[in-house]
Amino acid sequence: MSNTELVDIVVIGSGPGGYAAAFRAADLGQKVLMIDRDSDLGGVCLNRGCIPSKALLHISKVMSEASHLSTIGVSFSEPQIELDVVRDYKNKIVSRLSSGISQLANARKVKTIHGDASFISNNELVVKSESGDQTIAFKKCIISVGSSSAMLPGLPEGNPSILTSKTALDLKDIPKNLLVVGGGVIGLELGQVYASLGSEVSVVEFLPSLIPGADQDIVKPLQRRLSKQFKSIMLSSKVVAVKETEGGDLSVSIESKDGTEELRFEKILISIGRSPNTKQLNLGSTGIEVDDNNFIIVDEYQKTTVDNIFAIGDVAGNPMLAHKATHEGKVAAEVASGHPAAMDARVIPSVVYTHPEVAWVGLTELEAEEQGIPYEKGEFPWAASGKAMILDASQGKTKILFDPETKRVIGAAIVGPAAGDLISEACLAIEMGSDAEDVGLTIHPHPTLGETFAAASEMYTGTITDLYVPQKRGKDRKSTRLNSSHQIIS
Ligand code: FAD
Repeated sequence: MSNTELVDIVVIGSGPGGYAAAFRAADLGQKVLMIDRDSDLGGVCLNRGCIPSKALLHISKVMSEASHLSTIGVSFSEPQIELDVVRDYKNKIVSRLSSGISQLANARKVKTIHGDASFISNNELVVKSESGDQTIAFKKCIISVGSSSAMLPGLPEGNPSILTSKTALDLKDIPKNLLVVGGGVIGLELGQVYASLGSEVSVVEFLPSLIPGADQDIVKPLQRRLSKQFKSIMLSSKVVAVKETEGGDLSVSIESKDGTEELRFEKILISIGRSPNTKQLNLGSTGIEVDDNNFIIVDEYQKTTVDNIFAIGDVAGNPMLAHKATHEGKVAAEVASGHPAAMDARVIPSVVYTHPEVAWVGLTELEAEEQGIPYEKGEFPWAASGKAMILDASQGKTKILFDPETKRVIGAAIVGPAAGDLISEACLAIEMGSDAEDVGLTIHPHPTLGETFAAASEMYTGTITDLYVPQKRGKDRKSTRLNSSHQIIS
């Protein structure tokens, strides 16, 4: 490549947003260059996020299922953890997927270079790497630089016992005890991994509930499980100081309404949220504007305040999720290539891949109540599902929220194994404008957990036969809330 090369589209970042954008643009005939400062393609999601965490959570899930088998007559000996082999399994999945992205880039003639990109103007950027600086002139640019772990202020610097999600996933060792700071998705997922591998895990969360933002009725079954698996879950509590001790442990002061407690941990994991990677981009040399939280401001075409520059994924705002980044990446690539497209997804699903899983999409009851949005609901308890009983998942639940006027699905929440897979049906129902009868009259295979989605609709329409609900047998389509009078008949 000459010192300054002109490309149609330059994509900064090769995560799920960046590579989707680069590949879609190349498929639409553009000359595309993709830049990443990492040596491996795939971004946070592939290298230090979604994929490695789910590989480790798979181990936790199988261990938990194996342990349940001992209660139904099939026992295994205590698991032996060979950490090097576990790490190797995770790393091999990551590296296979990352080289898959390189192959897909080559097949599409998407050129990739490695280095730190920053803007010179609205049409030029520089990539700094060990081999020197390279200037790239571009017609269009798609920024997909993602986000990084936010840190608590005042922590001892450079202490390897203070983990981020990235270093926690490196799985260097299994500490005898671990404090997870932040009871959100990432903290609980990694906390469960470490608890399964043998750490005594405690969680501290500033807010009064775990996974703030999700309906607490679907969080509760997970919380019950974690209460048994973790040493403690400290809600409405905050870390006010962390000090190094002579023995190498960390002394952590935790403040709650009962006062301040000092506890010692071998390691702590900071999972209090993520911040967009906008600082290193030298946005001041462009007309790109950011909001108060440093997210790049975009419109429905993923365009920034500069007409030829787009932003997608974590750097363009919440929710910071891989599937949102990918969808936005395709929109940006299509618009940048002159095709009509816009970010008009009605909903973006959220999933916590713990055991049990928690998933929700669209309107939550929490939002409906906060914002005064009218809704009706149908709920199906998995205690009445044969498949859930087989899987020891009777604590699960499927809940669907409906528009009281149109009876259309406007939200759903599921807790139980595979909730993250099951929620896709709710996404499709919302995107397609399906109503309660569309869902309830769709024949679902038996025996599956998927049936619970139709059953939740039938709870609403009053056509349910797998439960006996005295007050509700017909098609009067009023909200059905399960109460203690229900009787399970199958
Ligand atoms: P990223 O994947 O963050 O990629 C950005 C890339 O840009 C990186 O490779 C970075 O090195 C590069 N870059 C940054 N700045 C520059 C620069 N100046 N020059 C060159 N390159 C640069 N989401 C889910 O949907 N499901 C999950 O299960 C899930 N699990 C997660 C688990 C963990 C532990 C974490 C941390 C995150 C998880 N996420 C999950 C979130 C998900 O990883 C992100 O939403 C997703 O990666 C965002 O994609 P992106 O394309 O915006 O950016």
